[in-house]
Amino acid sequence: MDDVKGWIIPSAASDAKTPAGSIITINRLPCHMQCRENMEIIPGVHQVDGVNANCYIIVGDGLVLVDTGLPGNTGKILEYVQKTLGAIPSDIETIILTHYHLDHTGNAYELWDITGAKVAIHADDAGYVEGTKPMPVPGGFIGILYGMFKFFFKFKPVQPDILLHDNDQVAGLTCIHTPGHTPGSICLHDPKFRMLFAGDTLRVSNGKLEGPHPRFTPSMDQAKQSIKKIAALDFDILLSGHGEPLMSGSSEKVREFVPSMP
Ligand SMILES: [Zn+2]
Ligand SMILES: [Zn+2]
Repeated sequence: MDDVKGWIIPSAASDAKTPAGSIITINRLPCHMQCRENMEIIPGVHQVDGVNANCYIIVGDGLVLVDTGLPGNTGKILEYVQKTLGAIPSDIETIILTHYHLDHTGNAYELWDITGAKVAIHADDAGYVEGTKPMPVPGGFIGILYGMFKFFFKFKPVQPDILLHDNDQVAGLTCIHTPGHTPGSICLHDPKFRMLFAGDTLRVSNGKLEGPHPRFTPSMDQAKQSIKKIAALDFDILLSGHGEPLMSGSSEKVREFVPSMP
């Protein structure tokens, strides 16, 4: 990784902590890894590849980000915005976080600071991203690994602008509160495009649905109830926090998945 100076803070971000006109330093990957392929899932919905977890961009009047990946990927996301979408960082108007975990919120502070976008998260997860609640650590060996992971990937707290609740509208999407994986986990439903952003409440692996990872899910019972709640919705496309998009018949697949949940 080498540091490259380059992003000029747009005037739209003048209410952010870095003054307009400033030039900041961000981490960028070696050149051969910088060229982002166009990852358009359906017209107007993109995925920024390789930021772990998935980061989605919805293109409308402005840009909406759903999740931000692990720390260190701000440059990759902004490069996609500029080179692939032909937009500028301040076109990002809203950053929606599906839950507080580091692999989804890792670049939220930097993106907020650079773009001036509004950051939205469910009220029950807000304390973890603003740094007023300690992020819970799983027990056992996984907890030790998680501690090392947290040390390596430093999390910068961010103050949310929008606190979401069940059924709220945010950037044209409906917030579905789906607790279990975290207290404030959400899915985002777009009835117009028949699409659901699932965060970690549902994962996709080799075209198959899975529930959230039990080790990182304090209440699997609650998570199962949340998946049943999703099963009552109607959508074709499922975009999970991990794994590839499911492109058709997705709500039917969730309904088929429910009875197989352990
Ligand atoms: Zn998670
Ligand atoms: Zn995740």
